[in-house]
Amino acid sequence: MADVRRVAENLEHVRDRIARAAARGGRSKEAVTLVAVTKYADIDAVRALIEAGCHDLGESRPQQLWQRADALGGTAVRWHLIGHLQRNKVSRTVGIVTLIHSCDSTRLARAVDESAAAAQRESPLPVLLEVNIAEEPAKHGYAPGDISAALPELARLDHLQIRGLMAMAGRPDDPAAARADFCRLRQLRDRLSVEAPPNIKLDELSMGMSGDFEIAIEEGATIVRVGSALFEGV
Ligand SMILES: *Cc1c(COP(=O)(O)O)cnc(C)c1O
Repeated sequence: MADVRRVAENLEHVRDRIARAAARGGRSKEAVTLVAVTKYADIDAVRALIEAGCHDLGESRPQQLWQRADALGGTAVRWHLIGHLQRNKVSRTVGIVTLIHSCDSTRLARAVDESAAAAQRESPLPVLLEVNIAEEPAKHGYAPGDISAALPELARLDHLQIRGLMAMAGRPDDPAAARADFCRLRQLRDRLSVEAPPNIKLDELSMGMSGDFEIAIEEGATIVRVGSALFEGV
């Protein structure tokens, strides 16, 4: 059995830290959405978290997201995909998620658009572009310099809606380096916003994990993806 009270305490503590970081950046706590990353947690702990009032859940592996969405069936969860999406897993994922954080190529965006069209969704599927902000060779994501040229085609994909950018700090254990990465992502967003076609609004910045979400919020995150801090001691 999961320690329900401990999960609720962790959630309260994380929310409190979010509120204080937002205040330091001159924003309200409502300006930051907490996505609870459940990839490490067993299903009882996830249920406890939902019961404690957290309804935005993120998984990095599509199959695990599907399984958990099935297992939690009736509960009101908004699912976020935060990890790499292979094209053969797009159609099943599109039917479940509220937001895809990890669109890392225009080829994938085309596949998501096609599946969203086939699923006859009422509204376009919200998507973030994942940016390899630290420009590490082995990491997924658009190179920062490649997004500008991709925007016109992305704007023509009617069944998805690009809402912003997502990234991970290259060296999450180094606070100064993480801050520099988050700052670069925000500046990139600001530059791209000026030139983006009118139907693309880059309002969302998904950045910050357990070790660095307060820094990310100070640098302008609107969505933080927090896993281990919520399940500590559970
Ligand atoms: C696992 C994961 C997180 C959460 O990591 P924690 O350090 O446990 O908070 C956030 N974002 C992505 C993309 C992840 O894969």
